[in-house]
Amino acid sequence: SPTDLTDRVAIVTGASSGIGEATARTLANEGASVVLAARREDELQSLADDIESEGGDALVVPTDVAEEEQTQRLVDATVDEYDRLDVLVNNAGVMLNEPFQRSDVEHYETMVEVNLLGLMKATRFAVPVMQETGDGRGHVVQMSSVAGRHAYKSHAAYNGTKFGVNGFTESLRKDTCGDGIRTTLVEPGAVDTELQQHIPDEEEKEGTEEMLASMDALAPDDIAAGVTYAVTQPANVSINELLIRPTEQE
Ligand code: NDP
Repeated sequence: SPTDLTDRVAIVTGASSGIGEATARTLANEGASVVLAARREDELQSLADDIESEGGDALVVPTDVAEEEQTQRLVDATVDEYDRLDVLVNNAGVMLNEPFQRSDVEHYETMVEVNLLGLMKATRFAVPVMQETGDGRGHVVQMSSVAGRHAYKSHAAYNGTKFGVNGFTESLRKDTCGDGIRTTLVEPGAVDTELQQHIPDEEEKEGTEEMLASMDALAPDDIAAGVTYAVTQPANVSINELLIRPTEQE
């Protein structure tokens, strides 16, 4: 039978915009209590208000996943509030693309700390808690990217983090599948969000915006639907990987 999310608890990182926000709304609609994590507290609070006005349940835990103690606190605050944890969606991420020759090593640090190390630590802190509190089961959903499987020009550090997410998660799967932990890598293609607004290189930013405008790009809800599909499968069905592109994307 499908996994019923009623009274289940899901943490969503990067819930203040884009794919994370859509995923939190969708999981809440399915009956989960959602724990909203990101740095912008006002955005999280208005999302929580929306979810609650529609009859859902949400907890706001402002979190910078680059700060280890804040990531630990996110898991602790979840258990303090709900006494359980069932799903972790590691979605927080940044894409600071620049041609290698002009690239700034500080941007490498930010992407590794958020996209890779933050995800790894959140997973490390959450998995044992899921096993203890979530009926001996748990589900880790990693927001990777097509860039976790294919390398692109001017994406060196971003590609490095997303390839890293895929490798980390496949190894994690082997260590934990016998313990009732499911893992899902979600690999979106072009989704219209705030992601590209933070690209530091003007040429790269314009190129990415043009690429998005040139096609019928995905919406955050398209990816949220994939997450919901994975986490609502019966407990013995593990959707390990979902590669989701706009039809027109090469
Ligand atoms: P957005 O920029 O809209 O969302 C990114 C989210 O990450 C925001 O909620 C942001 O919140 C959060 N975030 C950034 N830094 C931190 C941090 N240090 N600590 C906690 N949260 C942080 O972009 P998307 O929705 O597109 O991105 C979500 C994920 O999807 C990313 O991992 C991205 O790599 C991936 N993805 C996106 C694609 C796309 O085309 N859009 C394609 C493939 C993958 P705040 O600033 O409040 O902290």
